[in-house]
Amino acid sequence: MAEYSIGVDLGGTNLRVAAIDRDGRMMQKIASSTDLTNGPEAVVADMAAAIEALRATLGTHSLHGIGVAVPGFIRLKEGVIAGSNNLAVLEGFPMRDALQRKLGTPVILENDANAAAMGEKWIGAGRDVNDLVLITLGTGVGGGIIADGKIVHGYLGMAGEVGHITVVPNGNPCGCGNRGCLEKHASATAIAALAFLIGLGDVTSEQVYTLAKAGDERALAVFDHMGRALGIALAAMVNTFNFPLYLISGGPLPAWDVFSIPMLDEVSKRSFTFRASKTVIARAELGSEAGLFGAAYLPWGYETNYVARS
Ligand SMILES: [Zn+2]
Repeated sequence: MAEYSIGVDLGGTNLRVAAIDRDGRMMQKIASSTDLTNGPEAVVADMAAAIEALRATLGTHSLHGIGVAVPGFIRLKEGVIAGSNNLAVLEGFPMRDALQRKLGTPVILENDANAAAMGEKWIGAGRDVNDLVLITLGTGVGGGIIADGKIVHGYLGMAGEVGHITVVPNGNPCGCGNRGCLEKHASATAIAALAFLIGLGDVTSEQVYTLAKAGDERALAVFDHMGRALGIALAAMVNTFNFPLYLISGGPLPAWDVFSIPMLDEVSKRSFTFRASKTVIARAELGSEAGLFGAAYLPWGYETNYVARS
């Protein structure tokens, strides 16, 4: 039997577990929903049951390792979810050790956006580069940074929180305590909130896009604001990193033709490095599966990403 690893993507609503081989081919996948009502131990039991099911079919000996992606701030060394807006019930919970005890196999716990960035680097839009930033637009805005092929963790494992870069000094208040964070001006949630504020009613970000395509001035203004907010954050990143590639993913991605114009205009105005280079800002390729693939890659990339840090 071919060697495989198991990736787990634990979201606020969906739990996905997949067995993936060394070349990035998905062998088997189990999709269910996240049930937070019975506390952290029950969440661990649900994940363990899905992993056990895959392990029983594909063989314990061929299992290379397990990677788990969760939304939130991770304390890497302790394997603890330090804080999470979508999984508040898991805050402070030693997820890694609880799962390891249950399975008797080492587990790597990682932030979901970091895992997604690694997925894009492995088999997605970033496969030809060694340095990239992935920005994911969802309920919030997540970010993952890959430098020299490795996830940038920072000293605790909390690096890459690009969603909390200030893009409007006195902008909308954010749950993190700051005002004007990128995620308050460029997430799917922010697009809907901005649309509501300027009188488009109770609409989703998809509906704002439909209106923008039809030429609605207010909907276009929402995407202009959103694109420029992204552009401000991207310019800061381009100036800081001089990476060849910055990827955008998430629900609002279909609106790329509308928001990328003001976004690129803003980056261009604010970054000499961007104007003087062939820096690429592009759409990610793996969509909502990036985190799942990235999580499965973590055991393969263990030496590179984790050993030198501890
Ligand atoms: Zn914030």
